[in-house]
Amino acid sequence: MPNCPVCKEIHLLTNPLEDNLIAYHCLQCGGQWIRQKDYQAWLTHKGSILPEKAPSETVPEPLNTKQIKICPDCGHLLLKYQVGKGTDFTLDHCSHCGGVWFDKNEWLALKDRNLHDEVDKIITDIWQKNVRLEASRQTFQTFYLQQFGQADYEEIQRIKAWLSQHPKRDALLNYLQIKDPYSGT
Ligand SMILES: [Zn+2]
Ligand SMILES: [Zn+2]
Repeated sequence: MPNCPVCKEIHLLTNPLEDNLIAYHCLQCGGQWIRQKDYQAWLTHKGSILPEKAPSETVPEPLNTKQIKICPDCGHLLLKYQVGKGTDFTLDHCSHCGGVWFDKNEWLALKDRNLHDEVDKIITDIWQKNVRLEASRQTFQTFYLQQFGQADYEEIQRIKAWLSQHPKRDALLNYLQIKDPYSGT
C-alpha cells in the first residue's frame, strides 16, 4: 500500500469512495488518493456527467493543505490545480502517473457541486485558464464595487446593459458625453 503524501509514515488503506470507485484513504489526515485508471474506470461505468450545481450550505470545509506533496505511487512531484467555480481549494495531481490527491473533504466539496466527475477536466490548461480569468473578473468586480458603491454600481450596470443592446447606442453615448447637448458646439 502507498504512504500518505501528507502524513508520510502512514499507509493508505483501500476505501471505496463511491460505487465502483476505489480510493486509498489516510486514517490520520482524512485524505484520499485516486489512481488514474480507477477514476477512468469509474467515469466510464458512470456514463453521463452530472450538471454542475450551486454549493449547499452544509458541505464541510475542504482541508486544502498547502504543502508540496510527492506522488505516493511514483515519487514525482504533485502539481496544484485550482478548482475555481467559486471554490477556494486546489487538487494535487501527478502528471506522471495521473493520480490525484484529495485533502480531507475536498472530494465531498467537489461532489456537492457535481464537479467530482470532472476532475480530468480540472487539470487541463483550458480549465486553469478559465479559473484565472474568473479570478481576474472577480478582482475587477470588487474594484468597481468599491469605486462606485453598491447602488451606483447596480445602476451603471443596468445602463451599460441597456446601451450595449441599443440600436442608437453611439448617439446616446454621444449625448451623455457632451456637457451641453443643446448648445450646438
Ligand atoms: Zn495522511
Ligand atoms: Zn505518480
